[in-house]
Amino acid sequence: MNLLENMKNLEGKTIIVRVDFNVPLKDGGIRDDNRIVAALPTIKYLLGQKAKVVLMSHLGKINFKLTPEEVEAAKKKNNMEPVAKRLSELLGQDVVFSKDTRGEGLKTLVEGLKDGEVLLLQNTRYEKGETKNDPELSKEWASLGDGFVMDAFGSAHRAHASTYGIPEEMKKDGKPTAIGYLVEKEVKALSKCVNPEKEDRPYLAILGGFKVSDKIKVIESLLKKTDKILIGGAMAYTFLKALGTNIGTSPCEEDQLEYAKKCYATGKIVLPVDSMVTNAFDENAEREIKVVEGNIPEGFEGMDIGSKTIALFKDEISKANLIFWNGPTGVFEQKEFITGTVEVCKAITENKHCFSVIGGGDSAAAAKQFGYKDKFSHVSTGGGASLEMIENDGHLPGIDVIG
Ligand code: ADP
Ligand code: MG
Repeated sequence: MNLLENMKNLEGKTIIVRVDFNVPLKDGGIRDDNRIVAALPTIKYLLGQKAKVVLMSHLGKINFKLTPEEVEAAKKKNNMEPVAKRLSELLGQDVVFSKDTRGEGLKTLVEGLKDGEVLLLQNTRYEKGETKNDPELSKEWASLGDGFVMDAFGSAHRAHASTYGIPEEMKKDGKPTAIGYLVEKEVKALSKCVNPEKEDRPYLAILGGFKVSDKIKVIESLLKKTDKILIGGAMAYTFLKALGTNIGTSPCEEDQLEYAKKCYATGKIVLPVDSMVTNAFDENAEREIKVVEGNIPEGFEGMDIGSKTIALFKDEISKANLIFWNGPTGVFEQKEFITGTVEVCKAITENKHCFSVIGGGDSAAAAKQFGYKDKFSHVSTGGGASLEMIENDGHLPGIDVIG
């Protein structure tokens, strides 16, 4: 793996860094700057080496199949300019912002950079060719720099122009490429979950969240790697139904029932024995909330795991030496249904002999919200990327391309 430290003689060189500045926005501002903070070590290292740093990132989605007016609205919504401002505050130095994502305007700004200066491009997805890994766009971007650093772990599972095309082009020209500090840290922690060693056993996965179908491939590969998988969240109800339990109006993916049965037959899956249920999902509705064991009555749906399941899960968590957690056990956005997720966080962080990894945006948000985030061994900055890394046995296109 090409590491950042191995990139030598950076003084006066223009280094393109693909960062993950895909931050949550609210009312034209940044709701959470975690991802910007996470990129600082790499940026600061390069500035310390007197490189000229050109940062690129996508922000949100822009669908070019919509009308021109709708595309314009999406561009306006996913404007990177507030990020440049926040980055400048965090770095304590000016950040040049390029409104142009390609062409002469961008080239002139990049050529005007002095040693130790930073430029941030407007959202890479303003370019239609970004998500298509368009070769012309990749060539043009690659021509702007003398080297490339991949530090966008959250985007490493996508082979786009800024994550894959640029390093591919640079390598052709004999320019150096490396992974940054954030990606290095992510790879180190997640590699443990991909290839657990003897002392990591028992290796436990905890899966929750919403869709089974989204996580199918990861269940299959986790069944091969882990000793046990605890399943909570909405996903659990597809499994329970497959085993003949009445699940009331709980979410269920009918087309996954056979698959769920097959997974369960491995003997590694632990399912909830009780649930917190309600007769109305809407928290503003007048509703009944209760705990039920086994079958869920008609008209009620499972919203979180119950106390017996919490005890069962806690027992498994206390025995594990390695834990990978993806997906909250319940609808933690509603205060009545936070308990399962809070107790899982608590139990994981109380187990002092385990290495604990969170791979999932909502799970990380929940851990942060309940005050446990800093107590985990590793909280991945890429939900989708961390799952894909496990699915693909440690491989991601944006990291493999660096070599
Ligand atoms: P992550 O981002 O950590 O991978 P997901 O996106 O898969 O997690 O799932 C998070 C969502 O799952 C949350 O919005 C939560 O409300 C929802 N969820 C969890 N349990 C349930 C449930 N029993 N019924 C409906 N939604 C659920
Ligand atoms: Mg999510």
